[in-house]
Amino acid sequence: MKNFSAEFVKTCVSPDQYPHDRIPEIAIVGRSNVGKSSAINTLLNRKGLAKVGKIPGKTQTINFFKVSTGDALLPEFRLVDLPGYGYAKVPKTVREAWGPMIEQYLTTRENLCGGLVLIDARRSQAPDSVLVGWLGSLSLKTIIVATKADKIPPRLYRSHLENIRDELLLAPETPLLLFSARTRQGRPDVFQAVQNLVRATVSHQ
Ligand code: GDP
Repeated sequence: MKNFSAEFVKTCVSPDQYPHDRIPEIAIVGRSNVGKSSAINTLLNRKGLAKVGKIPGKTQTINFFKVSTGDALLPEFRLVDLPGYGYAKVPKTVREAWGPMIEQYLTTRENLCGGLVLIDARRSQAPDSVLVGWLGSLSLKTIIVATKADKIPPRLYRSHLENIRDELLLAPETPLLLFSARTRQGRPDVFQAVQNLVRATVSHQ
């Protein structure tokens, strides 16, 4: 999609602050430092929209970004940036706040159409498979985005993707896409997959 625009909507710390409308949403989740902010900026073609390299886990907020597509069937949707998880240096109190906050959003948010799960293309880690398994148990459709693909040589793409599929026990129909914010590799595919997910959900309602 060529003509789209994106804007930051708001930062929320509790459900009463979430937007009160029916615009479909895709949640973006991943370990702290996996490249979530960079991915949002790259996907939305906006350099400073999400903040890159912020101190991991310092504040636990949910950030809403709106995408206006100009497409009559799907005029707008939101990307929802959930707090990153699994960063060892985060104080325990903050780590404990993470679970309930994203659990609450993921289990009760009516606007939610699916999840974009970011993992490091070099290797998934234990908390990633816990999260992916949990999203599966919620029957939430997911797209897995393997970030920082520029860090692995192309001849190893296939084996990395196979390992990630095995480690995360991905269903064959779950999209797994290589992505790099640095080179923009995979950007059109991820953007398309997000739109497909929103369209599929909205057309079933
Ligand atoms: P977040 O904590 O998940 O939001 O991650 P950030 O977007 O803040 O990125 C964390 C670090 O990874 C920063 O130093 C980024 O410059 C770097 N980074 C993010 N995306 C990429 C990528 O695609 N390739 C490489 N090589 N580095 C990246």
